[in-house]
Amino acid sequence: MSAQEIADNIARIQVEIAAACAKANRDPADVTLVAVSKRKPATDILAAIAAGVQHFGENRVNEANEKVPFINEQVEEKPIWHMIGHVQSRKAKAVVPLFDIVEAVDSVKVAEKLSQQAVVYDKTLPILLEINISGEEAKQGFTASNWQADDAIKAALWEDIRTILALPALEVRGLMTMAPFYSKMEDTRPIFASLSELRQIIIEDFDVNMAELSMGMTNDYPVAIEEGATMIRVGRAIFGERI
Ligand SMILES: *Cc1c(COP(=O)(O)O)cnc(C)c1O
Repeated sequence: MSAQEIADNIARIQVEIAAACAKANRDPADVTLVAVSKRKPATDILAAIAAGVQHFGENRVNEANEKVPFINEQVEEKPIWHMIGHVQSRKAKAVVPLFDIVEAVDSVKVAEKLSQQAVVYDKTLPILLEINISGEEAKQGFTASNWQADDAIKAALWEDIRTILALPALEVRGLMTMAPFYSKMEDTRPIFASLSELRQIIIEDFDVNMAELSMGMTNDYPVAIEEGATMIRVGRAIFGERI
């Protein structure tokens, strides 16, 4: 993609974000565009930065290790780096200094590893808890399908959340999910609505401030925004198809 095409794509997405916000009576300033730059070169990231994007999502530690320090050196104001992929336990050590927020915390074990490393680095690491709302087996995340009706699912999830909230050096900022792929975007709505409702109940039950709802990708971000997304993770609509 040329820098111009990337800038045009970003401008178009911003128009769509504004339209979705207008529909839902929301302020577009409350929706952060996270540009998912996985498998895309540093030149594409620099083009997106020039077009005004400040948040980037990467899903592999090795790849981020190549790109993040390089980009950070090129620009006046460092972008905010989101780890959006599953964190392998043995990679937690590398994740903590590279990323500003880890979105895909999908087990107590991963949270514990990140907490240990954040203590070592003497930093507070913002995280999101990845929730598997759809129940799809291929999806990572804490199991929460049918959490409204299934007391055992909810109890297990509450137990895990309680454990994670007690860990040092982590700041649990909210929830993240991926909807299944549906050919009709509208079909994702119940998934996003369920995550939004889950966050509300967690806030009430635990008396915590979990402001963020990271949901919505290229195929479904307008619906996610209508259902309350505060972060959308968009790759292909900005940078084109990945090879
Ligand atoms: C790749 C990826 C995205 C972006 O997907 P697109 O369809 O390219 O917008 C968002 N979230 C996660 C977790 C991803 O792995």
